[in-house]
Amino acid sequence: MQSMHKIDMDLVEMTLDVMKYTIDRISSSKIKIGKPKKEEELRELVGETVTEKGIGGEYAFNLWKKHLSKANVPVDHPRNLAFVPASPTRTAIMFDLVTSASSIHGAYWMEGAGGIFCENEAMKWIVSLTGLPKGAFGVFTSGGTAANLSAMVTAREHWREHEEFRGEKGLIITSIGAHSSIKSMAKVIDVDVLLVESEDVLHETELQKTIDNLSKDERKRLFAVVATGGTTNAGIIDDLDGVANVCKKENLWYHIDAAYGGGALAADSVRHLFNGIEKADSITIDPHKWMFSPYDCGAVIYKDPQLAKNAHSQQGSYLDIFKDEGAHGFNPTDYQIQLTRRVRGLPLWFSLAAHGTDRYKEAVERGLELAQIAGKLIEADPNVELVRAPSLSCVLYRRIGWQPEDYTHWTYENHRKGFALVTPTKWKNGDSYETVSRFCFINPDTTKKDIQMILDSMK
Ligand SMILES: *Cc1c(COP(=O)(O)O)cnc(C)c1O
Repeated sequence: MQSMHKIDMDLVEMTLDVMKYTIDRISSSKIKIGKPKKEEELRELVGETVTEKGIGGEYAFNLWKKHLSKANVPVDHPRNLAFVPASPTRTAIMFDLVTSASSIHGAYWMEGAGGIFCENEAMKWIVSLTGLPKGAFGVFTSGGTAANLSAMVTAREHWREHEEFRGEKGLIITSIGAHSSIKSMAKVIDVDVLLVESEDVLHETELQKTIDNLSKDERKRLFAVVATGGTTNAGIIDDLDGVANVCKKENLWYHIDAAYGGGALAADSVRHLFNGIEKADSITIDPHKWMFSPYDCGAVIYKDPQLAKNAHSQQGSYLDIFKDEGAHGFNPTDYQIQLTRRVRGLPLWFSLAAHGTDRYKEAVERGLELAQIAGKLIEADPNVELVRAPSLSCVLYRRIGWQPEDYTHWTYENHRKGFALVTPTKWKNGDSYETVSRFCFINPDTTKKDIQMILDSMK
């Protein structure tokens, strides 16, 4: 019986095959928009893959190349403008392979010093974009959801340190523009959420009014406000400075979810829209959205990282060694919910180091510019109209005369043809919700022609 870990010619050859596939994939400028297949269809195509004796690496890899890889929709296709797409730099993807091959445990400095050092270099740049005061720092997480959860746990634990709130069920305020993960993570930590009923900018006066209208019990349980730095649906940035004033006056934890919009902090043309972000207690930014990092890579940043450490540091006899002399250094596990972790900031670091931050600025500016270009094309086209002015890189527009099912049909038709992935969304119009079309631009390789072609497909 041969060990699975043995190095032989087969392994070397398979490594070369994998490298060739990878090189082809990351250097190709003509990737196809794949589409999902039913599970039964995939089963039919590939048969049983996990068996007692194994089907062999070469065979399994061929199944991947021939069938399974094609049943995915690549997020980096220039006409994939649905949800928040992504467009990792080739340099970052390359280093993702190095990250995997290096087998680094990214929880503790003792084991992952070199990798964590690199992550921290990248984090320093991200923190500098926020303008948070000296001492602020963050860690990379699996994504925005985990970052929001980590920040909310820190806020709640800090609040409940006070005798008077111990045992209380917490309450947070956010707006209906906030991402679904805020409500979902509030369930995880069993706190209530009060939603300000506006999908547009959350303003100081509205927030203050909401707080003033709370019952005595609710006010006692309120410990945090979550503002959004670029809503996922429409790219709207709350009045971050105004919300900061309220949080300060009311002594509330101030979390800003900039998972999608955070990348735009690098863009000089819109940086002023984020004024006030430097007053947050915690911030979420997803490098796997608008910082061109491969999946998955989120980040949570704290004004006072010690508070996160108080909330998250895990205790266990088998972990004591990491707290000893000689293991001193930054331990990412202490600041978020995960223990064993990939050094997921490493690909971002390499790409930042290779290209320099100016190139990041330019790539983000291009996304903003594409939204403006789309806005102009929509205004010039009699079939469509803007629902609201483009905000960050999101554009909401309607096809005049279309019903919700027309949008759905159009989306599937474009997808089926392998042409584009553009999905409808809903926008709150007065008291009702209207189905509209939405672009979200991340990929700097998307062209004006791509946008025009998509609009033309609505004729
Ligand atoms: C995408 C997004 C999230 C969730 O991030 P994941 O990385 O998907 O977990 C949270 N908040 C906002 C504003 C987002 O756009």
